[in-house]
Amino acid sequence: MDAWSEALRELRGEYVASAKPKLQEATQLLGHLSTDPADRQALGDLLRRFHGFAGSGTTYGFPVVSENGIEAERECQKALDAGAGLTPSQLEHLRGLLSGIRNQFETGAPSPAAAEARRQHPQGGRDILVIDDDPDVLTMLRSLLEREGFSGRVARTRVEARNAIAERMPDGMIVDILLPDGSGYDLVSETRGRPHGEEIAIVILSMKTGFLDKVEAIHCGADGYFEKPLDWEKLIRRLQHMLEKNRAEPARILSVEDDPSQAAFLQAVLVSAGYEVLGCPDPRRFESDLSAFRPDLVLMDLLLPGVSGHDLVRYLRQDERYATLPVLFLTTESQVEAQMKTLRAGADDHLIKPILPGLLLSAVAGRLERARFLRTLVSHDGQTRLLTHTAFLERARERVARRRRDPNRAMAWAMLDLDHFKAVNDRHGHPVGDGVLMTLAALLRRRLRQTDTIGRYGGEEFAILLDELEPVEAERLLSRLLEEFREIDFKSGDGSTFRQTFSAGIAMLEEGMSLETWRENADTALYVAKSGGRNRVLLAR
Ligand code: GH3
Ligand code: MG
Ligand code: MG
Ligand code: MG
Repeated sequence: MDAWSEALRELRGEYVASAKPKLQEATQLLGHLSTDPADRQALGDLLRRFHGFAGSGTTYGFPVVSENGIEAERECQKALDAGAGLTPSQLEHLRGLLSGIRNQFETGAPSPAAAEARRQHPQGGRDILVIDDDPDVLTMLRSLLEREGFSGRVARTRVEARNAIAERMPDGMIVDILLPDGSGYDLVSETRGRPHGEEIAIVILSMKTGFLDKVEAIHCGADGYFEKPLDWEKLIRRLQHMLEKNRAEPARILSVEDDPSQAAFLQAVLVSAGYEVLGCPDPRRFESDLSAFRPDLVLMDLLLPGVSGHDLVRYLRQDERYATLPVLFLTTESQVEAQMKTLRAGADDHLIKPILPGLLLSAVAGRLERARFLRTLVSHDGQTRLLTHTAFLERARERVARRRRDPNRAMAWAMLDLDHFKAVNDRHGHPVGDGVLMTLAALLRRRLRQTDTIGRYGGEEFAILLDELEPVEAERLLSRLLEEFREIDFKSGDGSTFRQTFSAGIAMLEEGMSLETWRENADTALYVAKSGGRNRVLLAR
């Protein structure tokens, strides 16, 4: 049995156990209301009790509990609205509904929820293509990959690899440099140029030693580099890490729900799908949970102690930090009126409880994806698709913090600026200048690793954070980029061609260095490269 159904079975046991005192409470309230049918307080408590049953029954495989709960809740609301208290026939009706709920708890029913959720969210293994002509390497890697839950494909030659890639772009590739029919570098370079080729994780295997190969590997577009004899476990760990990186960080969901069994159910479903969940059972904690947990999405119950979910959303939308935060209402109130109120309050959707796990997960995934897309739009420059100045600095700040925890990790900041670019615009026009900028951006994206951070720092100025490269390696890599860039023939409007150069300054992040100093050092190195004659890469010493 998988972890998910086990968790659900456990929750279901707890749910049935916790139902006893609730049934008792409802019975007592009904008894009290038979003698005092106009006690609004008791009627309100009873409504809340039935509301709890309505919201939770189906999810644990007790549909009658939900159906009767919904009907009873409605009946209570009617009596409250009328203001005259419960009529004898309403009391009778409520007693019947409650006894139906009790019966279902006693007879039980198997839960279809677990199977439903699994069907909607199969755990697809990631597809890794291994390209090597050494049968021992192939056998070893394939079994390791399968052990880790990947699906491994193998190819012995460049041609076989090309066919495999054409059939389906893998999620990751492990490539030997020396293949019987050509070089692995070329294969990597070629793969990066294909549609979606930029997105996959690529590791190179080599017999050679020395940093020149490492630079060569990065230059052709590989994300990692390993020498034979291989440290297999390390290779797999690295690959996993890169694939994780490609996958977005798990989204955080704040679940505002006062009913403990509902909350536990939502938590189990969402956690099973890989989300990080924080439960907020008390609306008074809402504000502090928001700012401390920084959720990517809020699931909101409508009926909460002391306040309505509508008010919480209205409050949230007043703060511009949360202006685009997706909010999904989860409530039993299926009436059109409640839905309109929800949308007016600034919520994104209105889901009806009880909800099947698959439906909940689809709604959540859809909203998260849209929000993530919007965030990507905001953090990326529309012209070059590189990070904006602000987004880049944010990443740099994260690196400085990480460096404090991991002082042995080398980290370089490179600042690039096109040489005499004003003259390009003056001579060939602004659109041709734009083309040069986009070509350089594409070159950087293609040549650098997924672990590197590339930003458009200013108009014709780019900034790069290089992970785990020693100073000489960073310098060599930038020099290779410059050599390649200045060989490109750009077309002018009149059909003639011209070439373009850039200057670059590199600074390493030293222990205890602030973000400002790091950036200044890179800037100064760039300035020295410019004044030294441009068309060069300079490492700050
Ligand atoms: P230097 O070698 O000293 O960097 O000389 P430069 O001419 O490149 O430097 P300067 O800072 O004087 O000029 C930068 C030019 O870059 C001026 C501006 O028109 C151009 N530029 C900035 N952003 C863009 C853009 O998005 N598209 C185009 N076509 N040009 C841009
Ligand atoms: Mg509630
Ligand atoms: Mg310039
Ligand atoms: Mg400039």
